[in-house]
Amino acid sequence: MTKRVRSGRILCIAVIAVPLLAFPPVAPTLGQDEIPINSRRLSERALLTWACDHFQGTNMIVLTTSEGLVVIDTGLSPTTVRRQRAMIEQELGRNDFRYLINTHVHNDHAFANEVFPEATVVGHELSIAEMRREVDLIPELLERLRSSQASYLGWAEWAAGEGSAPEEEEQAREGIAAFAVGIGDLERGIEPRYPTLTFSGHESFQVGDLQFLLYPFMGFHSDSDILILVPEERMLFTGDVFASGQLPWIRLNSAGSFLTLMDTWKAILDACPDLEMIVTGHSDIPFTVGEFRASYGYLSQLWEAVCEAKEADTGLERFLIGSSFKEQYPEVAEYRYIYNDLNFHQHNVTMMWLLAGG
Ligand SMILES: [Zn+2]
Repeated sequence: MTKRVRSGRILCIAVIAVPLLAFPPVAPTLGQDEIPINSRRLSERALLTWACDHFQGTNMIVLTTSEGLVVIDTGLSPTTVRRQRAMIEQELGRNDFRYLINTHVHNDHAFANEVFPEATVVGHELSIAEMRREVDLIPELLERLRSSQASYLGWAEWAAGEGSAPEEEEQAREGIAAFAVGIGDLERGIEPRYPTLTFSGHESFQVGDLQFLLYPFMGFHSDSDILILVPEERMLFTGDVFASGQLPWIRLNSAGSFLTLMDTWKAILDACPDLEMIVTGHSDIPFTVGEFRASYGYLSQLWEAVCEAKEADTGLERFLIGSSFKEQYPEVAEYRYIYNDLNFHQHNVTMMWLLAGG
């Protein structure tokens, strides 16, 4: 990612290096009803909606079935998601929301679940505890949102004062408004809707004439991630697990389930060999089927190489010196692999080394 840097999972907050100047906050901002909301048909049966044109929005998807609408993820702000709901109802001409599936329950994906009170919330069984933690952390989240909003205010002032490109000021104003509506909702208090239909292993979930395959996929992002495959639509919904052009890296606290995760990954590829589209959790994060396959190929080949090295009694340091992923894994050679001083490839090797015993 270039200009936008995701700061963990706070909303979607792309905190940009913003010059904080001591100007009084005078830039006019957008009202909460002026924040742009967008929609795009992914297919006859799938509609994608998100808020904002410049600021990163959460992808909320609706699929139509013969037994009602199925929503995938919501957002942080119930106020904004209510407007998206109205847009969906208008575009689809129906409002029979039946299920809401959370890819995971970070605040920016699940805090607006209350907008669909009639829908049964579906999620991994671990997502209930994770959502409780998210709710407990609202005071800290509010602090971060206020501080990021102040940075955006400074940016808007600076952009207006410098006479920089009008788009830059527009982007800053949109960000300020997005923070304001989120902060307002959290200050008033949200009504958390926890998953009530939960599962632990792989599930086939049939809703009328549409099948949803739910795969637990913890290991890269949160403690409750699932991937949702809709074979008939040849679509996979991945939440925040993947981002385009980035080497996948194994999280420390879920390294133990790496092999299960790889089995799941293969099962998804096998279940839908003609997969056409991957929809991530955010409006500005693309991810292609090619990248999904290449990332799997990289990790499975690396695992084999690590196991072989272990058998041959090669030491970790020697293996690392001899392991240049750019040469050995050309399919992912151009992916970003260093972030905040962490070398993803070396980290993966180290994690696998531990897993392979020793
Ligand atoms: Zn997330």
